[in-house]
Amino acid sequence: MQRDIIAGIDIGGTKIAVAFASTAGEMFFKTRFPTQTERGARNIWNDTLARIGRLAEEANARIIAIGIGCGGPLNRARGVILSPPNLPGWDEFPIVELTRAKFDVPIVLDNDANAAALGELRYGAGRGLQNLVYITISTGIGGGVIVNEKVVHGVGDGGGEIGHLTILPDGVECKCGARGCLEMLASGTNVARRARERLQTGAPSLMLEMAGGIERVTAQTVSDAARAGDAIAREIWDETVRYIAIGVNDIIVTLAPQAVILGGGVMATGEQLLEPLRAEVKRRVKILPVKEVQILPAALGGDSGIYGALILGQDAHQASKKANV
Ligand SMILES: [Zn+2]
Repeated sequence: MQRDIIAGIDIGGTKIAVAFASTAGEMFFKTRFPTQTERGARNIWNDTLARIGRLAEEANARIIAIGIGCGGPLNRARGVILSPPNLPGWDEFPIVELTRAKFDVPIVLDNDANAAALGELRYGAGRGLQNLVYITISTGIGGGVIVNEKVVHGVGDGGGEIGHLTILPDGVECKCGARGCLEMLASGTNVARRARERLQTGAPSLMLEMAGGIERVTAQTVSDAARAGDAIAREIWDETVRYIAIGVNDIIVTLAPQAVILGGGVMATGEQLLEPLRAEVKRRVKILPVKEVQILPAALGGDSGIYGALILGQDAHQASKKANV
């Protein structure tokens, strides 16, 4: 007999992850494949759904609900992806309708950072907590705010856009149209940009040798060179920590969460980022007992998003059960 399962799909600019869980929420299968954005949204999505159908068949399972996490902005109520910067060509993409044409089951869509926040809440570093903020720092900066164990979506599903906290009022212009956003200063891409700009002044630095030229300097080069004692890299790193600390300060004084959880590629640097960040946040936040706010690395690493997508699927299933009572 076929068993009933929940499917989770986490759509990223480079990879799509698919996972299956039992109706009790236990993940038993997970796979990843390249997104290949150049193939166009519809082709990618048709192939993804066909693949999921085959995988379910192989597992002798019947999909009864689906959760989808995807880069925003998106409209949850309409089930439409609007214009994600990391998925060119996915503008106004009716992902829920297309998915339902293949699998006529309850489907919940949310942005990937909100999904990752849920993943960390129920399966990761936030287990047992009710209020937390998740921040992902990689090529961009995203976030998810959880209050009383629920994602805060807000107007236009725009809650938790932590990458667009203003850090420098007159800073570099962001693709969102504002200036001095956290993402424009502290995402991996922008840490590298700031380092390259500094190096263009002709200053000597280990980074040139380590990367093999200014244009090849990445955030990883900066963190490696900072650890090796390079003065400019350290300056860039310390500044980065300060920028993130200002953002985390604003989050903490607004929401007083039990934890701020950091994930994303830049978190591969671990304590090199976390230790000075904790110290700087402690120095800044005076208005509330900041030592009660934990600043933690994500426990699920690159899997926060796919766990979150499964939770969305679980929620879709629960909601439909209630609606049918
Ligand atoms: Zn912005």
